[in-house]
Amino acid sequence: MSVYREVLETPIGTAYDVVVAGGGSAGFAAALNAARNGARTLLVEREFMLGGIMTAGLMAKIAIEPYMTGIPTEFMARLGKRKMAIPYDGFPAPWPPSEMTEVPVDPEACKLLAEEMLTEAGVRILYGTQVAGVMQSEGRIEGVVVENKSGRSVIPGKVFIDATGDGDLCARAGATFEFGMAGNGRCSAANMLSRVAGVDLARTIDYLEAHPGELTRKKRRGTEGDDITPALLRRYALSDQPQFVSIGNFDETVARHLADLAVSEWEKDMLRLRNGIAFMNTPIRGQVLLNVGRVTGTDPLDALSLSDAVIESRRQNWYAYRFLRENVPGFENAALIETGAMLGVRESRRVVCDYRHTLEDFKARVRFDDAMMRNNDSVEFHNPDGSGIVFELYDPGEYEEISYRSILVKGWGNLLVAGRCWSADQMALSANRSIGFCMGMGQAAGMAAALAVRDGVPLRQINVKELQRAVYPLKEG
Ligand SMILES: Cc1cc2nc3c(=O)[nH]c(=O)nc-3n(C[C@H](O)[C@H](O)[C@H](O)COP(=O)(O)OP(=O)(O)OC[C@H]3O[C@@H](n4cnc5c(N)ncnc54)[C@H](O)[C@@H]3O)c2cc1C
Repeated sequence: MSVYREVLETPIGTAYDVVVAGGGSAGFAAALNAARNGARTLLVEREFMLGGIMTAGLMAKIAIEPYMTGIPTEFMARLGKRKMAIPYDGFPAPWPPSEMTEVPVDPEACKLLAEEMLTEAGVRILYGTQVAGVMQSEGRIEGVVVENKSGRSVIPGKVFIDATGDGDLCARAGATFEFGMAGNGRCSAANMLSRVAGVDLARTIDYLEAHPGELTRKKRRGTEGDDITPALLRRYALSDQPQFVSIGNFDETVARHLADLAVSEWEKDMLRLRNGIAFMNTPIRGQVLLNVGRVTGTDPLDALSLSDAVIESRRQNWYAYRFLRENVPGFENAALIETGAMLGVRESRRVVCDYRHTLEDFKARVRFDDAMMRNNDSVEFHNPDGSGIVFELYDPGEYEEISYRSILVKGWGNLLVAGRCWSADQMALSANRSIGFCMGMGQAAGMAAALAVRDGVPLRQINVKELQRAVYPLKEG
């Protein structure tokens, strides 16, 4: 490849105690907790919104383990009071539930609330800004190089948190990372989501009651684990006390399409990818969320590959919408109002830290002296090469712990990672990357950064007991 050698003189801007790169669920919680604990904090985000995959990616359903405390629970409680999370006013009354719970939220309400919370805490938000490099010396990051509408500049800081999902800051610094499946580098399949409004769900459920073969019989994952039936759908999707439900997969209609010679192979593949089409309820009456299709072989670090994946995924979402509109009563007047502005990338770089969390840790329900959080989510690995998901579940009450060392970036004294680019093997990551988890990890990273700034020590010398008391008060012993 030929190269153009640039000579740059980059202006150095205002310094902060803590600089957080990326404002997804992890970066939001990291910046919030750093600021709440006294650090002058800047959050750098390339989009003009907070929330990352939860908002720009429309994956507006927070999976959270029952004993997660602090910012994730506060966030859901505040959304619930606005009737923007399901259950509307369920927090904290029936909390904690007995097992991992899924909480649909409204993405627009998430954007606003996240901005309100950061502003209340005094976090400076810098939108439309891409992390492009780092200024460093001898194992310390001195500043992060950013590019935005104002041009290119360096933002100096004391502690840095990489919450870009892709480990961009760490990669620019030269940190070691793992990527995809050992041997072939293949990442879990990605997909886009979309929102559909104007749905008459009562009519859809009546139809499913009259055509039981359309409804995939499966257990509802959640507090009760009941079988999904039309009666349960009516109770959870239509009552004044709704709960999360997934509705689908229209098995008989799908079977008819698969047998129809007039239906194209692309459409048939699309229907086979997830055994039909399903959608989820949302806090807004008449609105549903489609989490459909999938693209394989996408390289989340390659701009052209990402662009191709977005184009294919958008086509898949429009197909799913039209399928529902043409075949499912209740969707006659529905409109697709939004496809995700960001592709739903499940995994990307996994930054190597002092400790690497593994599938064996998941299986062993591991405990750590320096644990900063816990999780009881399941392994949920989306086949990188086609359809299919590998699941491995915990029973209620079981959990694994996450070590503080697994966010301390190897080789750097003032750099942490938080969110889906943390130090885990591919399968362990699939169990530990939900929105509730990423917020919990961000919360711990923000606290650790604030402690390091307050005490003027490197991140490896903070008082871990104090970190645990602040973010993981349940730690036994
Ligand atoms: C299809 C799909 C379905 C899922 N289903 C669920 C579910 O049902 N429930 C659940 O809880 N979780 C689910 N997840 C997982 C969860 O959504 C993500 O793992 C989680 O949201 C990741 O949060 P994050 O903050 O680590 O990363 P992200 O949300 O990706 O946030 C990273 C942020 O950094 C910004 N950024 C990136 N690079 C740069 C840069 N160079 N400079 C500046 N900013 C940058 C991005 O714009 C983004 O805002 C799902 C994920 C996918 C993809």
